[in-house]
Amino acid sequence: MEAGGNSLPSGTDGVKRKVSYFYDPEVGNYYYGQGHPMKPHRIRMTHALLAHYGLLQHMHVLKPNPARDKDLCRFHADDYVGFLRSITPETQQEQLRQLKRFNVGEDCPVFDGLYSFCQTYAGGSVGGAVKLNHGHCDIAVNWAGGLHHAKKCEASGFCYVNDIVLAILELLKVHERVLYVDIDIHHGDGVEEAFYTTDRVMTVSFHKFGDYFPGTGDVRDIGYGKGKYYSLNVPLDDGIDDDSYQSLFKPIMGKVMEIFRPGAVVLQCGADSLSGDRLGCFNLSIKGHAECVKFMRSFNVPLLLLGGGGYTIRNVARCWCYETGVALGIELDDKMPQHEYYEYFGPDYTLHVAPSNMENKNSRILLEEIRSKLLDNLSRLQHAPSVQFQERPPDTDLPQMDEDHDGEDERSDPGSDIEVDEERISLKKMPTVRKSISNALNLLPNNQLEDARLLLIKRVTRVL
Ligand SMILES: [Zn+2]
Repeated sequence: MEAGGNSLPSGTDGVKRKVSYFYDPEVGNYYYGQGHPMKPHRIRMTHALLAHYGLLQHMHVLKPNPARDKDLCRFHADDYVGFLRSITPETQQEQLRQLKRFNVGEDCPVFDGLYSFCQTYAGGSVGGAVKLNHGHCDIAVNWAGGLHHAKKCEASGFCYVNDIVLAILELLKVHERVLYVDIDIHHGDGVEEAFYTTDRVMTVSFHKFGDYFPGTGDVRDIGYGKGKYYSLNVPLDDGIDDDSYQSLFKPIMGKVMEIFRPGAVVLQCGADSLSGDRLGCFNLSIKGHAECVKFMRSFNVPLLLLGGGGYTIRNVARCWCYETGVALGIELDDKMPQHEYYEYFGPDYTLHVAPSNMENKNSRILLEEIRSKLLDNLSRLQHAPSVQFQERPPDTDLPQMDEDHDGEDERSDPGSDIEVDEERISLKKMPTVRKSISNALNLLPNNQLEDARLLLIKRVTRVL
């Protein structure tokens, strides 16, 4: 397949890629609280595996610059960012109204260092986008990022700030079109919502749909206005295995790459879609999950790899370590090296784990229906008269950088910020509204469906 006009200098697939890897040694110390399934420790476990598999020496290892208030406010509301900065476990009882307003407290608890945690994981993703924009690497990796549920002024689903939206905004400074792909088991609602009305960002989410958090991601949600057909949703059911998953992923993403021709790709690699996840219900192997990374890498377009969900933490570390190997083009030995978290990986101490024998509820017929529906939507995009493809403008000329500045990444260039529309519609209750309207739509006769959907969609926020 043609790689488009944005080929990497490093060459075609099979050739090594230059990889920048963002990691803050503090990130594993943040703690959501007793019994909470989200454990930042999994990032440290991943890092330890990378170190002992000898992968760090093949990458540029960078400590992210913490995202500043003004970086976060490129997407998030000032008062929400101010709240995240000031709230502490000690003072939260005095802020009950604010906690409720910003959906902080239960799924998204207040914990020690919450704001610096947000600054760290957002800093890694934005830093990765900057590295890609400057052509300093072909692939940037931030396993601490990928928190796709956060909204403009609301925390959601263990996510506080949306590092993905911030990274995409950074990529849009250089790239005319950016593709977002989400293989977390949950719908990538925060990212979809942010770019629902623009044709410069295409979002594609593969997720469990039906009585499952966050409730959005219907196959009929396709974008609105200029963004119509630029949101793709792939609703899946319990127990999906590698073959079924790839029977959708490859044809759909192949078509998206051919038609949309993005200048950069952001891949959210949520590992809660793996078999045996504490919160998930899919049946993917690590190789099946990593096949998505391999496939997106093969297009030879600047790629930002992010983490996301993943709640059986030994498997999360296994998966993201293996996928770092895929990014580098290095196949790892199944026998795990000795390291400080070795005991987590017993009794087999292997990198790979077998999927289970659970039932695959995704019938061939249903998968075929979804695939043809989505390919049909994509063909409409191809023929839409408003679509104009442009080659990307040249990168900003940069002064010579010192290549040995490990430990620091350069700041984003505030002077080249793209304009962000300040007249954004508040969307605080959007997910709930969308879910309830989505349910209501099923009761309407067909001739009223489109009008009702338009009404619903007009409430969507706009960042571009
Ligand atoms: Zn998830």
